[in-house]
Amino acid sequence: MMQSIAANGYPIVFSENGYEYLNDIIEKNKYSTIFILSDTNTNEYCLPRFLPLLATNKTIEIIEIESGETEKNITTCVEIWSILTELGGDRKSLLINVGGGVITDIGGFVASTFKRGIDFIHIPTTLLAMVDASVGGKNGVDLGSLKNQIGVINVPKLVLIDTDYLSTLPQNEMRSGLAEMLKHGLIADADYWTKFKVLNGIDFADFDSLIYRSIEIKNEIVMQDPTENGIRMALNFGHTLGHAIESYFLENENKKTLLHGEAIAVGMILESYISWQKKLLSAAEYIEIKNTINAVFETIVFEENDLKPILELLIHDKKNEYGKIQFVLLDGIGNIKIDQEVENELIIKSFADYKS
Ligand code: NAD
Repeated sequence: MMQSIAANGYPIVFSENGYEYLNDIIEKNKYSTIFILSDTNTNEYCLPRFLPLLATNKTIEIIEIESGETEKNITTCVEIWSILTELGGDRKSLLINVGGGVITDIGGFVASTFKRGIDFIHIPTTLLAMVDASVGGKNGVDLGSLKNQIGVINVPKLVLIDTDYLSTLPQNEMRSGLAEMLKHGLIADADYWTKFKVLNGIDFADFDSLIYRSIEIKNEIVMQDPTENGIRMALNFGHTLGHAIESYFLENENKKTLLHGEAIAVGMILESYISWQKKLLSAAEYIEIKNTINAVFETIVFEENDLKPILELLIHDKKNEYGKIQFVLLDGIGNIKIDQEVENELIIKSFADYKS
């Protein structure tokens, strides 16, 4: 049985004893109504497992939204706030978010702001949400194509990890989560990274323990710096360029929409290249990273005129203070350096190398 992990102010619990814990919290807190936020997919695939495990005689109301990143906006929040209001939601209501990172991000934000904040619980159902989005208290929505522009940091009562939900998750969504697991190894644990080097050799029977370690790494980093003033920025490795690429592909009709992890995978290769050029990584380490990631993720095609708008989007990146583009770079595998300024030229070179 997986031990619970203590996060800041809440526990991350696993499967069977996790549901006991959940039911305990519901019992103890005397909630007035339990709202469950789901999307069309988690409603179909996850609620049939989840609902019978919820042992309560409280009123349960299910709120279902369309699935997808494009729903992660303030309009959807207004809809959810309105439904909560119509259904008599009050300050003693509980919101349980059953879904991927879109659901946990919107749900956390809606709960944090409804009536100045009601309790919420995350039940992540994608790999990405398990190892990343549900851990750390960040939540929020996009503003147009600007990712996570609006939001707050506020922690849930509980995060419950049940990897059984992954059985219905499409392969590309599994890969998306895998990108963040690779990142966890790269920024914090070289031994853990090694386990992914031969991805064909990964023992999927042991995948639960890999997920567990990933959550530990993310949580350890967040615990040291919950409000992201320093070390938490390590988690942005691959995300400075990754987010810009993701936003650009999202707003550009001629581009296929990239999954978060697909964009981050490219971002990690580009930022590893930059780390190498800045003499923080050896050539061998860079090649190892590039090959490992390319073995799992499809190469993304960038046209000549994609670069300028991507660079412009970088300026909006929330990590930038005083208008400078700050990167997190690898300082050997398993270590990072934050607040690294990178010249545009080197960014352009990284794209050129990615293509080659
Ligand atoms: P998602 O929530 O859109 O889920 C991906 C797809 O899988 C959706 O279509 C969803 O309906 C479907 N799905 C979910 N669970 C399923 C299941 N068990 N079986 C079948 N289908 C299922 O996306 P995601 O990749 O989980 O999360 C991405 C989001 O997370 C982004 O918005 C990103 O910004 C956010 N995020 C937040 C943080 C944070 O710290 N708050 C960290 C990383 C990412």
